[in-house]
Amino acid sequence: MDPQREAARRRTFAIISHPDAGKTTLTEKFLLYSGAIQEAGAVKSRKVERSTASDWLELEQKRGISVSSAVMRFEHDGHVFNLLDTPGHRDFSEDTYRVLSGVDAAVMVIDAVNGVEPQTEKLYAVCRRRGTPIITFVNKMDRPAPEPLEILDDIEAKLGIDAHPVTWPVVPEGRFTGVVDRRDASFHAYGDSAHGSRAGAESSEPWRDALDPSGMAGEELALLDELGKDVDVKRFLAGESTPVFFGSALANFGVRLLLDAVAGLAPPPGPRETRDGDRRAIDDPFSGFVFKVQANLDPRHRDRLAFVRVCSGTFERGTALTCARNGKRVVAKYAHQVFGRERETVDVAYPGDIVGLVNATDLRIGDTLFDGARVEFPPPPTFTPEHFSVCTPADRSKVKQFRRGLEQLDQEGVIQVLRHPDLGDQEPLLAAVGQLQFDVATWRLEHEFGAPVRLRAATYESARATDEASVPKLRTLRDVSVYYRSDDVPMALFRSRWVAERVRADHPELRLDNVVFS
Ligand code: GDP
Repeated sequence: MDPQREAARRRTFAIISHPDAGKTTLTEKFLLYSGAIQEAGAVKSRKVERSTASDWLELEQKRGISVSSAVMRFEHDGHVFNLLDTPGHRDFSEDTYRVLSGVDAAVMVIDAVNGVEPQTEKLYAVCRRRGTPIITFVNKMDRPAPEPLEILDDIEAKLGIDAHPVTWPVVPEGRFTGVVDRRDASFHAYGDSAHGSRAGAESSEPWRDALDPSGMAGEELALLDELGKDVDVKRFLAGESTPVFFGSALANFGVRLLLDAVAGLAPPPGPRETRDGDRRAIDDPFSGFVFKVQANLDPRHRDRLAFVRVCSGTFERGTALTCARNGKRVVAKYAHQVFGRERETVDVAYPGDIVGLVNATDLRIGDTLFDGARVEFPPPPTFTPEHFSVCTPADRSKVKQFRRGLEQLDQEGVIQVLRHPDLGDQEPLLAAVGQLQFDVATWRLEHEFGAPVRLRAATYESARATDEASVPKLRTLRDVSVYYRSDDVPMALFRSRWVAERVRADHPELRLDNVVFS
């Protein structure tokens, strides 16, 4: 089949939101609409309110669909949707950021009552940097919420993006009855959906027939027209403005319009920029990159999956591919699509698709795989850690397991392992963006690798990625140390945030980056 044609009908996206805004509920409704599941309640929240590692892992083991599946794939109206899961814990977001490098668009879910919340802001910032187009869904409109215009103002003020309503909620006397689609001036009234477990009846007619034009909604619609708040597709695709849809995921209100918008507005996979500034076209030979590595996903399998986003050409199982980092051959003999506990063998995949390569032990996050002409994509960004611990094996006879475990967790991106050039493998420093990463790492080192460890808080508060040219100077400064990441990026570690600020102010010539994009 033609990769260009197959790519054109694919939409690869993620849902970004603050915990509790309704991501899980919306995901479930998408799956319900597309027929991928029949009953509500099949998708379990990935969110962890309790914050210890064993709770988190216990939950992982009882996982429902969204917990274990990195990708949910479903079809609707001739389109193939690949919905990439973004883990929801507010303290465990490094993984989430990386997932965003694999998508072509994002749906941003906002709780109508709470407005834009901190986690949404963070995830939005990553999308913005990448220029990812964002469609906004204002959820929970069935609850008493601020005026829709206030909600739009909140989005524009907090995120600095233009918010253009595509649909407008109709809430007479505080009861959410439907939305007006401003594109064709139709009013969509929503019927009973048995508390959202079914799609529910949906009727549509011109809003001027259905509603009183001099009523609240009529006045607001006239005002919006006057303000010219219409979707500008070009600015949306550049990530500068966001089309806004109102609804209720729980009650199935406005969900179909949103899904249609993902199909109609969100872009299909396009040519992808390579490391040397070129572009790999969709119909070039196969290429893809690893955006997630997960080991021991299923305790029954004890394996390691590398999730590859297909960027160009056709992926065919069994083809010998090349890894751009080391030139090694990778034969993708076992390729899976993961959906909940189920795994399905994938024989072919097209741009926008995600395939899980089984036991491709050599692959790391950010690796490019290709067939034909060599290509390398820029790796996903990494974020500078804010928490640091010295890590030593609790049982000296388990040093081998300890090293193997650390290497694995580092490659999976569970934790960053930093080494001092004078100390080498002795006393590596574990570094994390969120505290929970330490709990997960120590739990896995003990239970999966048989290497219990001791953690000692290290006296650093802040880190910046730097370059070799800056290292000699950094070494002479007080309260600053230079460590190395496993990908050889030098990291400047500061005893306090204050020291970091001072060094930055006193030495503008030094390279000190917050986010590492390559
Ligand atoms: P997540 O943390 O973003 O995945 O949020 P969930 O989908 O788990 O939803 C969090 C809570 O909000 C749950 O109790 C949902 O039932 C509820 N919820 C989700 N969508 C709606 C909605 O449209 N209206 C109302 N009233 N509650 C909702």
